[in-house]
Amino acid sequence: MDAKPASWLADPQERLSRKNAFDASLVMGTANFNRNTGRQKSLHPPFSQYIDPATGLIRGDLLRARNCPVCDSPPGQGLFVKDGFRHVRCPRCDLIYVSLILREDLMTKYWREELAWTRVLLSGPQMDMDQAKYDYGLDLASAYLEGRRVLDIGTGTGGFVRQAGLRGWETMAMELNVESVENLRNEGIKVIVKPLELADMASGSFDLVSMWEVMEHLAEPRTVLSEARRLLSDDGALLAMVPNSASLVTRLLHEKSHTFGGHSHLNHFNPRSLSAILEGQRFEILEMETVITELGTINNHLAFEDPYLGEAPQFFPFLSPELIHRNLWGSRLLVLARPQRGKASG
Ligand SMILES: [Zn+2]
Repeated sequence: MDAKPASWLADPQERLSRKNAFDASLVMGTANFNRNTGRQKSLHPPFSQYIDPATGLIRGDLLRARNCPVCDSPPGQGLFVKDGFRHVRCPRCDLIYVSLILREDLMTKYWREELAWTRVLLSGPQMDMDQAKYDYGLDLASAYLEGRRVLDIGTGTGGFVRQAGLRGWETMAMELNVESVENLRNEGIKVIVKPLELADMASGSFDLVSMWEVMEHLAEPRTVLSEARRLLSDDGALLAMVPNSASLVTRLLHEKSHTFGGHSHLNHFNPRSLSAILEGQRFEILEMETVITELGTINNHLAFEDPYLGEAPQFFPFLSPELIHRNLWGSRLLVLARPQRGKASG
């Protein structure tokens, strides 16, 4: 449980092979993974009954408007409508986001009660991939951090805090989903059942704040980042993973990509907009890379098969994990950032 020597960080081959170990496309095949995790069954858009047939959009009384949650610009060019939600691109910072999002009460209710995705996360193949992914994240953080107190925001089924706990970290979970909270507590995991901004914790309480696939769900990600920064110790860091809108798979599939689901995925960062929001909240980026290629999905699409369930052979040998990640084309962005130093801190 000691910090790993950081040699793997500097060795591109070793680093790549560690990433490939939690890349389901490469380890078990895309169709196999999607079937065995129950992903396909979880994809029914839960608010489609509220689509107004006259407009194709979710009923206006269920929605609230917002400007770009990174830079406050008014909504830019419309890209597409999916499941009744309008997706736009910010002309200033390049964020793709949902401009009219569900009312806060509806969103809170959805997160408290949602179960379909929880089932996916608890499936065997998903837990195997996640364990290797979380180990990677813990090793990355450990290479930079001395302390071992972690706050995990949006803990879900608990994979990350469980893995951190096994490795000697002092963990605090934060989760709203009723069933997940009950399971975490039954397991003896400490969990706060409040949104971060209401949790009222002391400044500098944590060495690491983690958000695994959380920032894409937040109506106000800047508020959460600002609070996360306050909670970090002087030598602490933030570890976050988000879907990458500049990934090769998303560039190819556009709205057919499962990453777009406007009731839940509100923000789609790319390297530029993720850097902008972090630097805007006075974080300094230590590491930014992509993980998870979705190469199987890409190959299926290029072969005119169902991207997620097709069985196309890998007929484009030049599309390698190395090429994908070298260009930051992987389907997720993983970032480690610490509060900027040498400036007055709040
Ligand atoms: Zn913007």
